[in-house]
Amino acid sequence: MTNRPLGNERLLNRLQALTQDDRLHPCLLFEGPVGVGKATAAVWLACLANCEAEGAPCGACWSCRQIPNGQHPDVILVTVDPKKTAPIISVAQARSLQQQLMVKPFHARKRFVIIDPADAMTAEAANALLKTFEDPPSQTHFILVTGAPASLLLTVRSRSQRVRFAPVDTATMVPWLQQRGIEQPERVARAAEGCPGRALSLDTSGIDAWRASRDDLVEALSGGVASRLNYAETLARGDRAKWAPRVNEAVDALSMMLSDTLSVLDGGSIRYNDDRRDVIELWTQMLGRAGVSRAVVAVGEARERLERFVNGRLVMDALIANVHAQMHDADLDAV
Ligand SMILES: [Zn+2]
Repeated sequence: MTNRPLGNERLLNRLQALTQDDRLHPCLLFEGPVGVGKATAAVWLACLANCEAEGAPCGACWSCRQIPNGQHPDVILVTVDPKKTAPIISVAQARSLQQQLMVKPFHARKRFVIIDPADAMTAEAANALLKTFEDPPSQTHFILVTGAPASLLLTVRSRSQRVRFAPVDTATMVPWLQQRGIEQPERVARAAEGCPGRALSLDTSGIDAWRASRDDLVEALSGGVASRLNYAETLARGDRAKWAPRVNEAVDALSMMLSDTLSVLDGGSIRYNDDRRDVIELWTQMLGRAGVSRAVVAVGEARERLERFVNGRLVMDALIANVHAQMHDADLDAV
């Protein structure tokens, strides 16, 4: 089934027009938050360019059926190397891709190579592919998919055309979630921050788990140094596949708490944490506007370090210590 991604209408229409006019850039960089629909858009575009029917993508022809299943020989998906423990796209994968591209497309009018996540390419892998990104074999397009464009080599970014996916607004997401039988669609849409992929993985039991994670974070921040260190240690326990979702969830929870705190400071309403109004009000006093700004910067840094595969415990230790210090300083200023 060929799905057109939700939202980002103007951007998708533009890609469609460029494809129909055969003016699509050979190397596209799809960037935007995780779960916003970048990978779905890449598959949709490959179908659109190869569909044999009127009203492409028709969802019924051979290409439209094979591409979304990963069964089309000319739509190549490159993702992290299963042979490596670290989540990377290796130079061996890059070389093997180049071998594949030396052969003419089997069937397709347009061959697509989707690299997802493109930021997982090692510098060596990216360098091996630079010339190919710049001057791909005929009828071949690259789509680099990333939630962290800043982690890509500048030489890769400069060779590609950036396509920025924006979060989908709640009004668009709610009916779409309702059609899929998701309970409490408004709450889910807000918690997913405009990312349909995240909304689908966050059913209401997911929201309960998310709340528990947020409450642990709030408690750790109000405790002593031992409880803060213990919190980071517990959160980051086990191998990366285990801790990464927990740590990312905690960072997201902190980000939403800060966003609500800032909103209240500006006289606005609480968007995400209406069940913890008490804590938000406390944070407005403890952090103040300057403290929130510094904490938001610390959250951004933590996300970057997580994307660069820094140890989760180190990242959380530093983040929690930083936010705690902002609260403490603001407290002293108030006295
Ligand atoms: Zn078709």
